[in-house]
Amino acid sequence: MNDTEKVRSTGYGHDLNNVQEGYPQPEAVMTCPSPSPAVEPITCQSWCQDRDGHPREKVREDQWCFGAEHRVHLSTEPSVLMSDGKTAPTYLTTYLLRQADDTAPRVFIGYDEGSGKPATFDEARRFAVEILAQVDEHGT
Ligand SMILES: [Zn+2]
Repeated sequence: MNDTEKVRSTGYGHDLNNVQEGYPQPEAVMTCPSPSPAVEPITCQSWCQDRDGHPREKVREDQWCFGAEHRVHLSTEPSVLMSDGKTAPTYLTTYLLRQADDTAPRVFIGYDEGSGKPATFDEARRFAVEILAQVDEHGT
């Protein structure tokens, strides 16, 4: 293992357990000790990958719609050592997400697995414009 590699867990994609910091994790949610009935399915977003209303979540706060993920691998960054011993390229990622009862979808902007923040559409647009402006002005 080289010094620039860091260990992280495996697990992929949009599982709530590795979505992002600062959001309620399943362990942090108050749960009833007895098995609770499934929650009412929500109306999924048109871009939701599941489209099933997420009926198997235990609480409404766990019902999230996730859109398709878009990754950009970072060619000059060291790859990351996974807990299974494999390495994975470092990447930037973005996808849509919306929690049940939230007022609007967000654009998640992150890197690797589990790191990043959700932005409103307006914030995401401003961020994208800032990146494009820098690249267009100073890119070679
Ligand atoms: Zn959904």
